[in-house]
Amino acid sequence: MELLVVGSGAAYPDRPGTASSCYVVLHDGAAICLDLGQGAFAGLAGRLEPADLAGVVISHLHPDHFVDLVALRHYLRYEFEPPRRMRVIAPAGLRGRLDGVTGEPDFAAGTLEIEDRGAGHVQVGPFDLESRRVTHTADSFATRVTLAAAADGPAIVYSGDCGRAADLAPLIGPGDMLLCEVAFGPGPIPVPDLHLDGAAVGRLAAETRVSQVLLTHLQMKRDPAATLAAARAGYGGQVSLVSDGDRIPITG
Ligand SMILES: [Zn+2]
Ligand SMILES: [Zn+2]
Repeated sequence: MELLVVGSGAAYPDRPGTASSCYVVLHDGAAICLDLGQGAFAGLAGRLEPADLAGVVISHLHPDHFVDLVALRHYLRYEFEPPRRMRVIAPAGLRGRLDGVTGEPDFAAGTLEIEDRGAGHVQVGPFDLESRRVTHTADSFATRVTLAAAADGPAIVYSGDCGRAADLAPLIGPGDMLLCEVAFGPGPIPVPDLHLDGAAVGRLAAETRVSQVLLTHLQMKRDPAATLAAARAGYGGQVSLVSDGDRIPITG
């Protein structure tokens, strides 16, 4: 498997060209999309055929994680005859959010086939996705992705937005790759139970013995170098801060 970072930005990025949350996991011509935040559709469509995704999986219903589903729906509806359909797995309430943003009742009908997300396993294309609730909104999920045909093989865990590192630990196996939000950068944490900082991610990585840490979702005005240093203080393995367009092999 390979990770393609389409959008590494937080809720309001200040680096020109940076999209909000969107990560694609690829394997042998198949792909799934984890989150589709503002500005991410262009980065997605510029790098692969969005209509060919096996599915889109949304971590939680903050706009920086789902709002470019509006662009995806327009694309599937207006660029194909008949419109293409896309499986979308998301916390309950997505239909109403999309209707509210667009002012169109039943906006997703005929294109986005929305399934409510819960804890546990679901298969999307060749991928097995395990979901676990995390502290953030009332209905937020982290995701562990493996190949369904190789459940003991390489895995990547994506935190989504997460306010308590301990929520992620049960989802992580030794040797997994950890793609983790670090919105509060070098810390300190200004608001409890909302986002993580580098020190919390570093401690989690050491406790769970991950193979490497990919930091993302850094809020503007937080220093990248100090964030990396804070994570490295607790974890001796490889730690990096991802950028849009990065392609990273997912190894065991
Ligand atoms: Zn976010
Ligand atoms: Zn959020």
